[in-house]
Amino acid sequence: MQYALPLHSPAAVPVAGTDELFPVHRIYCVGRNYAEHAKEMGGTGREAPFFFMKPADAVLPVASGGVGEMPYPPMTRDLQHEIELVVAIGKDGQNICAADAMQHVWGYAIGLDMTRRDLQGEAKKLGRPWCTGKGFDHSAPIAPIHRFTETGPINGGAIALTVNGTPRQEGDIAQLIWSVAETIEHLSKYYALQSGDLIFTGTPAGVGAVAVGDLLVGTIDRLGELRVRIV
Ligand code: MN
Repeated sequence: MQYALPLHSPAAVPVAGTDELFPVHRIYCVGRNYAEHAKEMGGTGREAPFFFMKPADAVLPVASGGVGEMPYPPMTRDLQHEIELVVAIGKDGQNICAADAMQHVWGYAIGLDMTRRDLQGEAKKLGRPWCTGKGFDHSAPIAPIHRFTETGPINGGAIALTVNGTPRQEGDIAQLIWSVAETIEHLSKYYALQSGDLIFTGTPAGVGAVAVGDLLVGTIDRLGELRVRIV
């Protein structure tokens, strides 16, 4: 048997310090996982984590030392940044308990959950899906993935984003409402996690709009930086 059309090359993200690529299977995202951001989005207290997805080929991989170019997407007037710790899954699993979760973590990266906030807001108001607000082309800029064997578990450390040199988002991974292990426990009740999955773990407070020409620089302790220009 043959494919009726040419296959697309798989979505992939560079592995830091190597010439290897991490093949992306699915992209899961956690909503409202830092208390201050949950408040700015209108939430209260510790709600159970909730999830949404982006297509795997929404990744915009940015090489180490490089500047990614993200085209300003169509159908929005309010493109916003969300800096996030991304967890790369290396081992399949379902109904994973938090105590075992770290065995499934292959590595970590810095990512941006870019959001068409106006479309997301309209979807919330009308009770419609978030797909057009969250899961659009190039909506997941991501820096190279650092192997867990090199970083060890990341349960704390500064996470920050500047736009044109001005601080916009600042937080600490330790402020995650649901830790990486707890997030994997919850997520794996809903989906069979597979190697190649990426989990965007949520953003600290300070989300805001960007414009064409802006330079976004995201940093997370031990993971270097992610540089993206809006074009
Ligand atoms: Mn997010």
